[in-house]
Amino acid sequence: MAKRIDGKAFAEGLRERVGEAVSSLQRDHGLTPGLAVVLVGEDPASQVYVRNKGKQTLEAGMKSFEHKLPNTTSETELLGLVNQLNADPDVHGILVQLPLPDQIDSHAVINAINPDKDVDGFHLINVGRLSTGASGLVPCTPLGCLMLLKAKLGDLSGKNAVVVGRSNIVGKPMAALLLAESCTVTIAHSRTQDLAEVCREADILVAAVGRPEMIPGGWVKPGATVIDVGINRIEGEEGKTRLVGDVDYASCEAVAGAITPVPGGVGPMTIACLLRNTVQAACASNGITFDFD
Ligand code: NDP
Repeated sequence: MAKRIDGKAFAEGLRERVGEAVSSLQRDHGLTPGLAVVLVGEDPASQVYVRNKGKQTLEAGMKSFEHKLPNTTSETELLGLVNQLNADPDVHGILVQLPLPDQIDSHAVINAINPDKDVDGFHLINVGRLSTGASGLVPCTPLGCLMLLKAKLGDLSGKNAVVVGRSNIVGKPMAALLLAESCTVTIAHSRTQDLAEVCREADILVAAVGRPEMIPGGWVKPGATVIDVGINRIEGEEGKTRLVGDVDYASCEAVAGAITPVPGGVGPMTIACLLRNTVQAACASNGITFDFD
């Protein structure tokens, strides 16, 4: 039976360490890291994320700046706010919650953020830094996955890693991080032929697909480490909904060496890494060495 990787407990520990780092920055440098989160529109899931981000930012002892704009906001108005936040010395991290309404080009907005304040790691400069091995801000969800993998396995070098999904926010940066750890990386996607066979080669299998319980235990190499990024809400018993991942937990758990559950696996790591990235950005902009990890 696979060992369950407790992302919730790991994220709590990470948030505590962020809180300690914030205290020492305040004590030694008079610096309080600040995170600005911008929400456009009333998407219910985004509202929950933004509320949690603000709450956990304050709990870590940081400054939280929330900007809620109506659904009718124009791209020019949003770019104006981004420029204002770029210039604000109290703001070290800027996150624009996605998705944005149709009238706004999200690439234009993301690339208007000062790359050194881009705590989501989505700016082209940070994408370039990650793929060339330069230091920069790394997307939070894949960073969280990597932390869980290293905590579980230690050195990842030489391992066969398969990432299912090639999105810019999860799959591609995940693959870049695993490559930087000297894994042999395969990126699979909707056009991959014989996905089951590809997955069975993986010592590390990361699922970031967005399809409920798509990966069965029969696709998992015995003893492999399975990281399930998926968050899918499905119809449960008595008309209630419940969250499931992209892997079928019950059958994969029986084969894998270790596996993240949904909920309580990768999910809690994302905000914890966002707070960590904000501390990193605050240190970098003040010439302070970031010796956090
Ligand atoms: P996207 O929809 O952007 O990407 C999904 C990827 O999966 C695509 O590359 C797609 O391939 C691939 N795919 C779709 N169907 C198949 C299939 N049948 N076989 C193989 N590959 C397939 O999703 P995201 O990367 O944004 O998110 C993935 C999952 O992770 C979602 O469940 C999302 O909710 C969750 N998520 C969780 C986060 C967290 O905090 N834990 C944060 C972000 C996302 P192709 O490119 O060919 O279309």
